[in-house]
Amino acid sequence: MTLMENNKMQNITQKGKGLAFLIHEDRLLLMADGASLRLPLVGELPAPATGRWFANHLRMDCFVCPIPKEFPLPDAARLLTLRQLFDLIDDHLYILAGRAVQILNWDLSHQYCGCCATPMEEKKGEIAKICPSCNAISYPRLSPAVIMTVERDDEILLGRSPHFPKEMYSTLAGFVEPGETLEQAVQREIREEVNVEVEDVRYFGSQPWPFPHSLMVGFTTRYAGGDIIPDPGEIEDARWFHRDALPKLPSRISIARKLIDNFLARTLPN
Ligand SMILES: [Zn+2]
Repeated sequence: MTLMENNKMQNITQKGKGLAFLIHEDRLLLMADGASLRLPLVGELPAPATGRWFANHLRMDCFVCPIPKEFPLPDAARLLTLRQLFDLIDDHLYILAGRAVQILNWDLSHQYCGCCATPMEEKKGEIAKICPSCNAISYPRLSPAVIMTVERDDEILLGRSPHFPKEMYSTLAGFVEPGETLEQAVQREIREEVNVEVEDVRYFGSQPWPFPHSLMVGFTTRYAGGDIIPDPGEIEDARWFHRDALPKLPSRISIARKLIDNFLARTLPN
């Protein structure tokens, strides 16, 4: 029995409060409302489903469930991936959607114990599963990644990877490895990706990044030495950009862009 079946059965035909995150494969169902998109409310769509409620930073009731292929979609329904949604809904709803998708993916992909293959059971009081046979515990997986500016007076070092949209540059980023601090990960990634040394590594902020389960941790750093040599496997091009001559940048919702905007604000000429 899956975690969702273990949970109290919910019938979304019952009128209730809260937002419904209905997920078909990797796509989320939204309702077109004129020119804008919104999340359906629990009870709005005429089909029963099982799923789970989850808490969130907005203290709104949220319900997530998978929807089957044959689910009858109303005309106003749109199925969109999280990436397609990026600029289309409010930041706080986007973060909730990422949380919903990650919880559901974890639930569906961790139905059996990784140690002894026994079906997992829900662990009460938290988002976790426990094996009734060997007591192994599973939490939703999170993969921390660091993302950072490299600053040199009025210039910022930006790079582009081969899969970026044409002409777009962004801050460098990479996954944290076992056994290193976030600060060490920042310095290692910059060294590996562009052969540059940095100092003065300072925490900036963080952003959940549900592709598929990262947490981006942002830092600012100051250039300390080295000539740019891009790592050919990861970085197609990297260069210094003056604050007044920046290339095409990532979306405003991304922490990469917030880091760059923060650099611009701090280097405003008097
Ligand atoms: Zn087990």
